[in-house]
Amino acid sequence: LTNDTLDRWDRENFFHPSTHLAQHARGESPSRIITTAEGCHITDRDGNRFLDGFAGLYCVNIGYGRQEVSEAIAAQARELAYYHAYVGHGTEASITLSKMVLDRAPANMSKVYFGLGGSDANETNIKLVWYYNNIRGLPAKKKIISRWRGYHGSGLVSGSMTGLHLFHQKFDLPLDRILHTTAPYFFRREHEAMDEEAFTAHCASELQAMIDREGADTIAAFIAEPVLGTGGLVPPPAGYWDAIMPILKANDILLIADEVVTGFGRLGSMFGSDHFGLEADLITIAKGLTSAYAPLSGTIVSDKVWRVLEQGTDENGPLGHGWTYSAHPIGAAAGVANLQVLDKLNLVENAGSVGPYLTEQLRLALADHPNVGEVRGIGMLSAVEFVADKATRTFFDPSAKIGPAVAGALMAAGVIGRAMPQGDILGFAPPLCLTREEADVIVAKTAAALAKVFA
Ligand code: PLP
Repeated sequence: LTNDTLDRWDRENFFHPSTHLAQHARGESPSRIITTAEGCHITDRDGNRFLDGFAGLYCVNIGYGRQEVSEAIAAQARELAYYHAYVGHGTEASITLSKMVLDRAPANMSKVYFGLGGSDANETNIKLVWYYNNIRGLPAKKKIISRWRGYHGSGLVSGSMTGLHLFHQKFDLPLDRILHTTAPYFFRREHEAMDEEAFTAHCASELQAMIDREGADTIAAFIAEPVLGTGGLVPPPAGYWDAIMPILKANDILLIADEVVTGFGRLGSMFGSDHFGLEADLITIAKGLTSAYAPLSGTIVSDKVWRVLEQGTDENGPLGHGWTYSAHPIGAAAGVANLQVLDKLNLVENAGSVGPYLTEQLRLALADHPNVGEVRGIGMLSAVEFVADKATRTFFDPSAKIGPAVAGALMAAGVIGRAMPQGDILGFAPPLCLTREEADVIVAKTAAALAKVFA
C-alpha cells in the first residue's frame, strides 16, 4: 500500500482517539504511520526517526523491540492463544503473572484481577467497592471522591472520575456519586502567599469539608494517582499523602491508588505506593504491567477488601463481573516476560537515577527562560510548564496553544514530548531504559524548540 492510499483510507474509515475528528477528516492534522521501534526510538513510514520521550503513552516502560517479550508472545500464541478465565480457569501465564504481581506489590495486597486497560480496571475497582459496602450492610456508602485534574480513564465511571473538562463536556459526565476535590497542584495554587505546607493543609481541609458536607456514611472511596499524571505531571506538595491518609482512615473511606502510570518503576520504585508509603486498599495497574507489548490491566485488592469479597460470594454466589478477555493468555505471557526484563536490566533503578538527571538538566537549561514557569519532575517523569508572565504567574490563553506549538517544534527536531491536555505543559515520560546521553538530547532539543516558539 502506498502512503497516499493509507492516508486516504485512514481519513475515510478510521476515527482516532483523542483526535480533533473534523480537522483530521479534512486532512488538516497529520496522519502518521509508525512502522518500527527499538529502545527509546520509533521510526515512521517515511523513515523519520524520533526519540520517544513519552514511551508511547507512558506505557513502554522497558523500551521498544525487546525480543524476549515478542518471543514469549509468539510462543503463547502458538501454544494457546486464548482460553477464558471464568469459573476458575487459568493458564500457566496468567497464574505466574498473578504471583509475580503480588510478589512486587505492597505487603497488604492480597489478590489480583486482570482486565484489558486502565479504564476497565477502574470500572472494576468501583464495582468492587460498591459490592464491598453492600456486603458490609452499608448500601448508602457509595460516593467516590477523585480530584480535579486526575486521570482515571475514558469509560462512564472512569471518565467521570477523570477530572479534566474535555472528558466531561458534552458527555453528560460526571455521573452522580462521583465528586471532585482540589488538585494537589502547588504551582497552580490560587493564593500566591500560600507556601507548600499551607497548600497541603488547604488540600486536606477541602477534602475534610467535602466529607463533612456529604456525610462520611455516603462516601465509599477516594481515588488518586500517587503523582498527578495526565493532569500535568505534578508531584504532590510536601506532606500531602501524610495529610490525606489519616482523613480517609478516620472516615472509613477506601483508598484506590491508580498506579497505571506510576506502577512498575516509573518513580524509581516498583510502585508509587512504595515511594509515598501509601496503604492503598485497591491498586489499579496497566501500562507498565506489559510495557504495552499486549493489552493487560489489573486491579490489586488488599487483604481487608478481599475478605469481604469472599464473604460476598459465600452469600450470593459467583462474582457478577467478568470480561471475555480477563487475564488473556497473550497479555499475561507479555506481562511475565516484561517483568523479567524490568528486573534483569535493573530498569527501576535506572528510572530512579536517569529520571532525576533529566529533570535537573531541563531545569538547568530552561528554568531562567522568561516563559518557563516551572520545571518539575519525579523519577522518570518530567514537565515544563509555560507562562505568559513569570512574575505574576499568568498563564497563556489556551487558544494560543503554546504547549502544542512547543511539542510540534520538538517533534520536528526528532524528539517526542507530550503537550498535556489541560494547560501549557510539555511532559516527558521516556522508557525507563533512557540513557543520560538520550536525556541530553531531549534537553538540547527542548531548548531549541523553545527558542523557535518564543522567538
Ligand atoms: N489511569 C491512569 C492514571 C492513566 O494515566 C490512564 C491512561 O493514561 C488510565 C487510567 C486509563 O488507562 P487506559 O487508557 O489503558 O484505559
